[in-house]
Amino acid sequence: MHRIVIVGGGAGGLELATRLGDTLGKSGRANVTLVDRCPTHIWKPLLHEVATGSLDTNAHQLEYAAQAHWHHFEFTLGELVGLDRASKSLRLAAVLDAESREEVLPPRELTYDNLVLALGSQTHFFGVPGAQANAIPLDTPEQAEKLRRRLLQTCIRKGSKSCEINFPGVVNVAIIGGGATGVELSAELRRMEKAFRKFGLHAANQESDINITLLEAGPRLLPALSPRVATITTDLLRKLGIQVSVGDPVTKVDRDSVTTKSGSCVPADITIWAAGIKAPDLLANLDGIEVNRINQVKVTRSLQSQTDSNIFAFGDCACCSWKDDRFVPPRAQAAHQQAAFLAKSLRARVSGFSPREFKYSDRGSLVSLGAASAVGNLMGGVIGGSIMIEGLIAKFMYAALYRKHLATVAGVRRMLIDSLVHGLRRVGMPRVKLH
Ligand SMILES: Cc1cc2nc3c(=O)[nH]c(=O)nc-3n(C[C@H](O)[C@H](O)[C@H](O)COP(=O)(O)OP(=O)(O)OC[C@H]3O[C@@H](n4cnc5c(N)ncnc54)[C@H](O)[C@@H]3O)c2cc1C
Repeated sequence: MHRIVIVGGGAGGLELATRLGDTLGKSGRANVTLVDRCPTHIWKPLLHEVATGSLDTNAHQLEYAAQAHWHHFEFTLGELVGLDRASKSLRLAAVLDAESREEVLPPRELTYDNLVLALGSQTHFFGVPGAQANAIPLDTPEQAEKLRRRLLQTCIRKGSKSCEINFPGVVNVAIIGGGATGVELSAELRRMEKAFRKFGLHAANQESDINITLLEAGPRLLPALSPRVATITTDLLRKLGIQVSVGDPVTKVDRDSVTTKSGSCVPADITIWAAGIKAPDLLANLDGIEVNRINQVKVTRSLQSQTDSNIFAFGDCACCSWKDDRFVPPRAQAAHQQAAFLAKSLRARVSGFSPREFKYSDRGSLVSLGAASAVGNLMGGVIGGSIMIEGLIAKFMYAALYRKHLATVAGVRRMLIDSLVHGLRRVGMPRVKLH
C-alpha cells in the first residue's frame, strides 16, 4: 500500500493527516502516518495566551493517538533526527521519560513512499549577544508554560517585597519584536496583571505593577500589516501603559537588562524574544535537501522539495514562492491553505495523476489586543480589496480562527461542544491561571 509519512502535527500537519486519514486511510488506498515529538497538539497561535495563563493547555490540547484512531491514520511518537533518501527511510530518536530519562521507546526507522515535512519554525536570535541565554522564546507549549511560571513567581516575589520600605516591587518585562506575537503578548500581559492584582498575588501599590517595554528594530510595529493598523495598535498599546520603542535594534541581552543600538538600557526581570523565526536547524543537514538561509526547504509550486520530488514540505518550514519575488508567509492561514491543497494533491498522486500548483490567497491578518479588542485587515473574497476592522467585531473574528481550526481537525460538533464547555467553565472561575 502507498505509504505517506507526515512529520510534524502542528497547524498544517495535523490538518493534512486528518484530511488524508478521512479519505485515503479510511478507504484503504494508503497508509497515512503522522510523526510528532509531542503526544499532544496545541494550536501555536494560542501560545501567548498560554504564557499569560488565560488559556489552560490541558483543556485545549488534542491527543494525537485519539485523533489518529478517529480519523484512520497512525500516530508515531518521536523526533525526526535523520533521513536516507536512497532507501526512503527516516530515523526517529529514542523517546525518553521527561523526569527519569529512562528509555520509553528505542530509536526507530520508518519507510515512506511520500514524505511530508511540516516541522514548523523556531525562534531566530540573529546571534545577538546574550539573547539565547537570557531571553525566553515562545515556540512550544513548554516554553509558554515556563514563561508563565516565571511571570507568576516574579510577580509574587516582587509583590511580597514591596511591603519593605523603599522597595518598588514593580516587575520589568522587555518584549523584543514588535510583530504580531510581541504585540499580542504585551496586551495579554496587562490582562494577567489585572487578575493578579484582583486576587492579591501582586500589588506594588503603584499605578501599574508590571512595566512592559516592547522593542522593535524596524521603523514601526507590525511590519507585515498596513501602516494604519500599526498606528492604531501603537496608540492602543500606549493607552494600556506599554512603552513602545521602534527603530532601535537590541544589541545585547543581559540577565536583568536589554541594551539597544542607541545605547539605552532597559531594565528587565524577564526578557521575551519574539523577533524572528527560522526553520529547525535539522533541515540544513537532512541528506542534502536544499534549504534557504533560514533553513526552510526550497519547494516548487507543487510544494515538492526542489531536490527530491518524493518529499513535500509546507507551512513555516518551507520556502514557497508566491508573487513579485515574495514568498508565502509563515502564518497559520498559509499552513491551513497548503494542508488543504496537499490533501487533494496527494490523493491525486496516489491515483496516478501529476500534482497541481499551489496558489496562496492572502485573507488578511488580525492581531488580538487583549480581552475585548483586536485589529487588522481583511482581504479578498467578497470584499475584493482590503478593509480594516477593529474592536469587538475584530476580536470575535480573531476568536473564530481557532474555532475554524478546531472544526477542521475535530469536526463541527466537537468544536461546538468544546466552545460551550469552555464558556460554561469560565463562569465563576478566575480569567487567568493563578498557580
Ligand atoms: C505566539 C504566536 C502567535 C501566532 N499568531 C498567529 C496568528 O494570529 N495568525 C497566524 O496566521 N499565525 C500566527 N502564528 C504563526 C503560526 O502559529 C504558524 O505559522 C503555524 O503554526 C505554522 O504551522 P506549521 O504546521 O508549519 O508548524 P507548527 O504549527 O509550528 O507545527 C510544527 C510541529 O512539528 C513538530 N516538530 C518539530 N520538529 C520536529 C521533529 N524534529 N520531529 C517531530 N516533530 C517535530 C512540533 O512538535 C509541532 O507539532 C503565531 C505564532 C506564535 C508563536
